[in-house]
Amino acid sequence: RTSRIENLLQDLGGVPVVTDPQRVRKRSRDFFWYSPVLNEELKDVSGEVLVEATSEAHVIATAAACARHGVPLTVRGGGTGNYGQCVPLEGGVVLDIMGMDKIEWHRADVVRAEPGIRLNKLDDTLRPNGWESRMHPSTKRTASLGGFIAGGSGGVGSVTWGGLVEPGNILAARIVTLEAEPRVIELRADAAQKINRAYGTTGIITALEMPLAPAYPWIDIIVAFDSVEAALKGGQAVAYADGIAKKLVTPIGWPLPSYFTPLKEAAPEGKSLLLCMIAQNSIEPFKDLVRRAGGTITHEKPTAEEPGSIPLYEYCWNHSTLQVLKSDRSYTYLQCLYPADRAIESALKMVDIFGDELMPHFEFIRFGGKMTFSGLPVVRYTTRERLWEIIAIHEDNGIMVANPHVVTLEDGSRHKRANADQFGFKGEVDPLGLLNPGKMRSFLRRSGPF
Ligand code: FAD
Repeated sequence: RTSRIENLLQDLGGVPVVTDPQRVRKRSRDFFWYSPVLNEELKDVSGEVLVEATSEAHVIATAAACARHGVPLTVRGGGTGNYGQCVPLEGGVVLDIMGMDKIEWHRADVVRAEPGIRLNKLDDTLRPNGWESRMHPSTKRTASLGGFIAGGSGGVGSVTWGGLVEPGNILAARIVTLEAEPRVIELRADAAQKINRAYGTTGIITALEMPLAPAYPWIDIIVAFDSVEAALKGGQAVAYADGIAKKLVTPIGWPLPSYFTPLKEAAPEGKSLLLCMIAQNSIEPFKDLVRRAGGTITHEKPTAEEPGSIPLYEYCWNHSTLQVLKSDRSYTYLQCLYPADRAIESALKMVDIFGDELMPHFEFIRFGGKMTFSGLPVVRYTTRERLWEIIAIHEDNGIMVANPHVVTLEDGSRHKRANADQFGFKGEVDPLGLLNPGKMRSFLRRSGPF
């Protein structure tokens, strides 16, 4: 071990620490292996020390020690990110916050909780009172609240509520700065966006205040269509129907459904599917709509999330890619946003251009007040050059791509630059550039006294 790590360990006092290299390495990884490009870059990267924080006091002590000794600190939640977000590129401390999992309070339509709470535990606690999270990633059963806000973007529920970036979807965040004398800062309303999808580069989140949605009884329902175009149009009819309460509207083009083995009965050969979560009270009008669009219902069952069952959302969002990777590692994926005014047209153009190199998968979402869809097409991987070419062809057709094969915030964003507020804020809360170094590439590390 280097002397800076020895000095750090002496300084950490009563904070729970793990130094066994194998255990530290295990928790220095996430789902970056979805990307053959990132897998090559990150497979051997590891932190040097694992801190298992169970309180804000542990976080403050760790941040202070890291600042004093010039040691990088990377926060880890459930470790389900796809772009190596919690992989410590420059080693140092991996700060696991899953032990901070308390609900601070719950008041009607708002909850305040610690960041390590698993999203399923949060909803299990809230639903008996008639409320639930507005949205969650399809990794709800493994991911943490803090990891979702710091590393995710939206998911199940975004068809109604938009992404996390929409004003009002994060009410407040409490953070700890990385300084010799860390400060605790409460960021409210728009200011809370400074930590959204910043990969933990702009402060360590120790509490989040989130707005809630009414907890409907949700029904998983699958509709089969003759073509991907018909599934997209059927999905659009449902997405546009404001009177239908919905949480998921997911068109999936054949042959992707052929990889969903447990859903075999509901996935007829050659048919494209529409996977939906619809509130019980909207099932009748929903069925009318999709039948009129040429669909046939092949599956209908209340959403079941308990161990042993598979909710339909675990075939959607980035779980669709996972269903393929379970049997064939030669595929990877992209993350696209189609232009709202010609979403179907541009999506079908890509289907035409790429043929069987790309399996179509779309997720209807609201974006800036407009209904559109994002896409997570599953792509047959050949070379990095071809992957970059596929991205360029999408972008040339007005489809924005958040590249999931890079580690930096900038290159992984649709806009290819850091959010200006987050960039400015970083200088205030992490002046030495020790928080998850290498992820915000526009922030030049300042030299400290080390
Ligand atoms: P981690 O992976 O542990 O961390 C994510 C990032 O947040 C890291 O940069 C980490 O440093 C930072 N971080 C974690 N906790 C804190 C904290 N307390 N303070 C500061 N920074 C912190 N994402 C979506 O948005 N929508 C989806 O539908 C979706 N589906 C997925 C499906 C699959 C199968 C997989 C593998 C991934 C999917 N993801 C999705 C990505 C990921 O699962 C989610 O974003 C998830 O919410 C991340 O939570 P986590 O606890 O695992 O975070």
